[in-house]
Amino acid sequence: MTPLKNLLQIFQKGKFPFKFIYSDKYWMHNMNNHIFPVEKYRMIYEKLLMMGARKEDFLPPYTASVEDVLLAHTPKYVKKLRTGKLSHSEVMSLELPYSPELFEFALMYVGGTITAAEQALKVGLAVHLGGGFHHAFADHGEGFCILNDVAVAVEKLKKEGKVAKVLVVDVDVHQGNGTASILSKKDYVFTFSIHQMDIYPAEKPRSSLDVGLWTGDGDEKYLTALKKHFPRLYEEFNPDLIVYLAGADPFEKDQLGSLKLTKEGLMERGRLIIGEARRRDIPVVVLLAGGYAHDVQDTVAVHLNTIKVARRMQKKYA
Ligand SMILES: [Zn+2]
Repeated sequence: MTPLKNLLQIFQKGKFPFKFIYSDKYWMHNMNNHIFPVEKYRMIYEKLLMMGARKEDFLPPYTASVEDVLLAHTPKYVKKLRTGKLSHSEVMSLELPYSPELFEFALMYVGGTITAAEQALKVGLAVHLGGGFHHAFADHGEGFCILNDVAVAVEKLKKEGKVAKVLVVDVDVHQGNGTASILSKKDYVFTFSIHQMDIYPAEKPRSSLDVGLWTGDGDEKYLTALKKHFPRLYEEFNPDLIVYLAGADPFEKDQLGSLKLTKEGLMERGRLIIGEARRRDIPVVVLLAGGYAHDVQDTVAVHLNTIKVARRMQKKYA
């Protein structure tokens, strides 16, 4: 290969055929060494720049309005968040220290998922470097999730007539309890969750389809279970949009999950979910969701692998 060709190939390799939604404010909120590694957002952003993303590939999140949030949350809960009137037990179930900035952060990531979904509808795919807060219910927050960005985004797009049917594919290691509670009975949404059974949340409200796995199940059982339903669900439900919660926490070195998936297994998961969707020209919005590896670099690597798979699949089926 000539040096010029070589250079050209590196240049080509670096291009991303979709936008990222991201804000520096995602990681500036001080979480006081909380297990939720907000620094992953900055680390992924910086790595993407090194991988060839340009500054203009990153769009700022829209800040969700209270009106948007009320599409999926109760006025009582939203008022408590706005005025800082959560009870002690509500803060305990949130597992985050409450502050007015925390509510601002939540409005931003909800808006980020909305912006990302709108982008995906335009060009087929978008990646929100954030989002996936699936444990927030209509009337309370849980497990690091203040507001449910998935539910608000789906309701807003539906209300504005931008989508008729949405499929939520939640592969975070934790069951999508809040999303199931808010969305699973709506006929225009199909909620799928594949998760580990013997960890939080203890109570698992029914998704449209739940697949439960157990400690140590690993790549083969996980991918076999997933392949039973994908791409079948794409054909049967025929959605206008897929909201993909690509949690990094099924990874073998995660502190909160123990499904023991390898990095390669997690990439195969992405190839199946994103690839089969793009092959059918169904838009996909990718959300990062959870990830708590002992070494945050592992969490970052798993998320970046998903983004690399997205790039390959978006180019392949362009
Ligand atoms: Zn999780």
